[in-house]
Amino acid sequence: MHFHRLTTRKTFRLFAALLALILLMSPLWVQSPGVSAASGSSQDKLKEIQKQLDSVRSSRKQLAGEKDKLSGDLAYLEKRTQEQRAVYDSALEQKEAALMVLEMNQTASIRAQEDYEAKVGEYQERVAQMYAWNRQSMISMLLTSDSLQGFFTTLRFMKLVTEADEQALVELEEASALAEQLAHDAELQYEEMCALVREADAAMNEIRQQASMTREQLSKVSSSLEISRQKEAQLSRDAQAAQQKPATPSAPPAQTVAAHVGTAGFIWPIPGQHGISSHFGYRAKYGRYHYGTDVMAPRGTKVVAAANGIVTFASSGWNDGYGTVVMIDHGNGYQTRYAHLNGLNCRMGQSVSAGQVIGYSGNTGNSTGPHLHFEIRMNGTPHNPMNYFKKSG
Ligand SMILES: [Zn+2]
Repeated sequence: MHFHRLTTRKTFRLFAALLALILLMSPLWVQSPGVSAASGSSQDKLKEIQKQLDSVRSSRKQLAGEKDKLSGDLAYLEKRTQEQRAVYDSALEQKEAALMVLEMNQTASIRAQEDYEAKVGEYQERVAQMYAWNRQSMISMLLTSDSLQGFFTTLRFMKLVTEADEQALVELEEASALAEQLAHDAELQYEEMCALVREADAAMNEIRQQASMTREQLSKVSSSLEISRQKEAQLSRDAQAAQQKPATPSAPPAQTVAAHVGTAGFIWPIPGQHGISSHFGYRAKYGRYHYGTDVMAPRGTKVVAAANGIVTFASSGWNDGYGTVVMIDHGNGYQTRYAHLNGLNCRMGQSVSAGQVIGYSGNTGNSTGPHLHFEIRMNGTPHNPMNYFKKSG
């Protein structure tokens, strides 16, 4: 006051204009970061979630398409496997049948050959015997004329026998050749069937391999799809939560709040409690300027002096809405206030040191819930207490 009187009229007017300008602007300035930052960040968060959701949705659709395609491929390959198995089984049957035919023909061929060879041997032996017999009997038959007729008859008879033998020999030779040809054909047929079985087997293996690869891919895509679905569901829940309950930085959960550490010689007035429910500045919900910081605290929490000083006021009652309140003067123009207390632990005029318990938090005066209203004033002007603290960690 003394200082003000010494200033010139002009300077005072300029000062008053500046003060008016500051007072006019400050609520707006204080309000805008508070309110719009809160709704802005929740809007941004929602937008970010929506963006992620869109991306997850599109990748999920892509994965679903891939899964459908792979499922189709796999069904086709399984059908092909069945068909190929039928081809293979039939080839195998034909191979076994060809083997039977081959064995029969080989046996027949061997037998025909044996028959032929036996007949040749028999013929050779008989001709040899016949000529041996001829040499002596022809002379004796020629010497006895009455048996001349008999001789010719015998010769004719012998000739006939030879012709039959020769005929049989030719037939046996032909039969043996035919049996051999049949055996050879059966062998070719059998080899063809073996090749067919090998081809069918290779084709089936190739299809099986393709099916196995497709199955593996399908399993990967299916699990990716499942992850994508879960992610989408989670993001949908997040988006819903962000829409229903916009982020309120003025009331974050207590356990996530970082502790406050003094930066200008002050210590935090309510140890262990760091959740801020209302900041310094214009508060729309109150419709007026808020001259302090509200710290959420259960009723009866210890409240300590923020710095060394002298208690200039300590009183229970309404106290203009402050309720039970303590005011401490710290010198150098600084004063602190502790309001809505549930109980006092100091007296007016008492000297207190930083950290000394001066009272207990409560819900007295103009208060809607248990909390500590804390003010820092410089020569009577309320300052934002948060300017004197920083968050740890
Ligand atoms: Zn308050």
